Amino acid sequence: NRNKDFHLDSVLTDLFISVKTTKKYHHPRLVILLETWASLVKHQTWFFTDLEDPDMNQRTQGHLIATNCSDSHSRVALVCKMASEFDFFLKSMKRWWCHFDDDNYVHVTKLAQLLKSYSPDEPIYLGKPSTAKPLEIFDIKSPQNTSHFWFATGGAGFCVSRTLALKMAPYAGNGKFVETGDQFWFPDDVTLGYIVEHLLGERLTVIPEFHSHLEPMKRIPPEEISQQISFSYISYNGVQNVIDLPGPLPTDADPTRFYSLHCLLYSAPYCPEEK
Ligand code: UDP
Ligand code: MN
Repeated sequence: NRNKDFHLDSVLTDLFISVKTTKKYHHPRLVILLETWASLVKHQTWFFTDLEDPDMNQRTQGHLIATNCSDSHSRVALVCKMASEFDFFLKSMKRWWCHFDDDNYVHVTKLAQLLKSYSPDEPIYLGKPSTAKPLEIFDIKSPQNTSHFWFATGGAGFCVSRTLALKMAPYAGNGKFVETGDQFWFPDDVTLGYIVEHLLGERLTVIPEFHSHLEPMKRIPPEEISQQISFSYISYNGVQNVIDLPGPLPTDADPTRFYSLHCLLYSAPYCPEEK
């Protein structure tokens, strides 16, 4: 039996959710989120973009942050946005930060359950690597000194406790995140893993229930969908990588399957009435 009544878990009031987006994705990506999972956690969710958009700012109830980052898909632009998300989290004084991309669906109830099983008073880094092996870095001056570290793929979402963020602050706060990433030309999510694992010696806790579109979404068995925390979608060369859901919404109205997923897990005015 589906429990469709969403109750705001107390851990969610301690949570800051940042969604990375860009002006060309306000439609349709942001709208899809606002009409599905983000409607359940309006107060804690903030959207980090690169252009003022009064209409979207209103639809998010003032939660659209126009960063000064460039609107390109460049490494520097993405690291800049992650830095902005980090600084906002620290200022929010919340005990948990979870980052997602604008093509993620977040199963909010499961996310709350996950966070409740960890203490934000510990340095905690939760997410899922997309590589089979950790990254390896070499010291140019002494090449025998290699070092390995894992990072959580940004496209699957990740969470960081405030305690860890405070430890990260010397390397990530106030513009430092960009400087740190520039040392190795790392992308944003790699930079975060580098700070946590390499510089601070803390560890990523792997959460298999996070999913990016680097994985085939159809591989999630239908009966296990309600146990997952994040989902994504992508289409390349006309081939859709989306979760396998027959309905209730048709694919032309719901190509990402996020509305159908939302009806399966929760409820919304556009979902069919339950008999
Ligand atoms: N993104 C961005 N600026 C850009 C392109 C993308 O901030 O110029 C964001 C986008 O909104 C999303 C994330 O970066 O949250 C990943 O983008 P996308 O899904 O297009 O590419 P992927 O890296 O997943 O293939
Ligand atoms: Mn993507």
